[in-house]
Amino acid sequence: MAVTKTYHDDLAIIREELDKCMKCGNCMAVCPVYGADKVETAVTRSKITVAEAVLDGELELDDPQVSEMLFNCLVCKSCMTNCPTKVNFDRIMLALRAALVRKNGLPWLKRMIFSTIKHPKLFDAGLRVGAAMQSLVFRGDKSGKAISPRSPFALVGSGIGFDAERQLPGLNVTPLRERVPTVVKVNRTAAKMKVAFFTGDSLNYFYPDAGMDLIEVLTANDIEVHIPKEQSCCGVPVLVHGDIDTVRTLARNNLDTFDKTGCEYLITGCGSCGGAWQHDYTEIMAADPVYGPKAEYWAKRTYDISTFLTRVIAIRPPKGRVERVVTYHDSCHLKKTMKVFAEPREILKSIPGITFKEMTAPDTCCGSGGSYVLSHYDTSSTIGRKKIEDINRTKADTVSVGCPACMMQLFDNVHRSGEQQEVVHYISLLAESYRREQVSSSVSR
Ligand code: SF4
Ligand code: SF4
Repeated sequence: MAVTKTYHDDLAIIREELDKCMKCGNCMAVCPVYGADKVETAVTRSKITVAEAVLDGELELDDPQVSEMLFNCLVCKSCMTNCPTKVNFDRIMLALRAALVRKNGLPWLKRMIFSTIKHPKLFDAGLRVGAAMQSLVFRGDKSGKAISPRSPFALVGSGIGFDAERQLPGLNVTPLRERVPTVVKVNRTAAKMKVAFFTGDSLNYFYPDAGMDLIEVLTANDIEVHIPKEQSCCGVPVLVHGDIDTVRTLARNNLDTFDKTGCEYLITGCGSCGGAWQHDYTEIMAADPVYGPKAEYWAKRTYDISTFLTRVIAIRPPKGRVERVVTYHDSCHLKKTMKVFAEPREILKSIPGITFKEMTAPDTCCGSGGSYVLSHYDTSSTIGRKKIEDINRTKADTVSVGCPACMMQLFDNVHRSGEQQEVVHYISLLAESYRREQVSSSVSR
């Protein structure tokens, strides 16, 4: 039977997910929010009980206590990994938040921000102005790699973690997509293949160097890289707030934009972006006769850069030495949505000079959860501190990650804990090895 609407449009569709829950409580053991807050209302099964009451008409979605429960969740999917009946809790959470927005609309601040995200040119212009003006609100640190809120903004923002100690990567005046042409050709030889790179907003605006490293790695493997300028945000930051109209607008723009590249593969360097292309777009567009098939097409062709290098092509083995002790944090969307965890480790362990150290619980959420770090800063920090303790036990000097949002969270938490580890995208370590190989071969000639 043809799908006419999805759980994003009709809360009743989620009933069958709710019915799978047997209230066993296995989710308690792995829920990072419960681990930090130690209150039953934080746990998955309590949220499911509330969802049942809403569907049965016993509770209102916009009851303040219900709304607070709804948003006190990282949508990290940890509970789903420990659930004997395979409850898709992420769908329940997204359906509830979408139903709340249908009922009451978005709060004004979210409405304003999301309507800007919907218009990529306006969003881009806004962030460029923000980048040019950020020194009014933020001060740079000594390393030049981080910014922190200035007084009095630090005082005003302390409730949401924007205090004087907060370290952020800072907005780049020249975003990634401005630094490169739409097509980056291979230098030395004929390209083996051409791929499309979905940069996402975080690599584009906050971590363009990591994005450059990803492009450099692809071209070093004789892959031509297409980076369409018209791409927009993947939509995940909006999806988790229930703004389904905006996500669909963004998805349609991205699907049309990447269709035009003529590439066979789409590469991501962010678990949230990759998860959107592999899963969210197909679910959210399932009832759309034009964009549903487009979403299916790209879902099968989307790869995290690590999977592409190790499973689709034969990666050029790195030869340059990178003398570091490295640990790896499994980002929730990369591991639990895209099922990518072995591939980044394979790459890291193949780099000469790297000593790889595993954490005790590398796939425990870092507490970022997109905007959760702002709305629930104390809980997020408690979760983040536990992560830093695990990192410290490895004695690594470098924390590698595959998701820019986790990079931001770990970067801030490392600093606040008084630690010195460098937080990097794992692809940057591979790029560093390739660069060192070139230096040593030119020296030896
Ligand atoms: S682990 Fe699964 S079945 Fe058990 S209470 Fe949690 S959500 Fe329900
Ligand atoms: S998605 Fe994460 S934060 Fe939310 S209930 Fe499940 S484990 Fe807890």
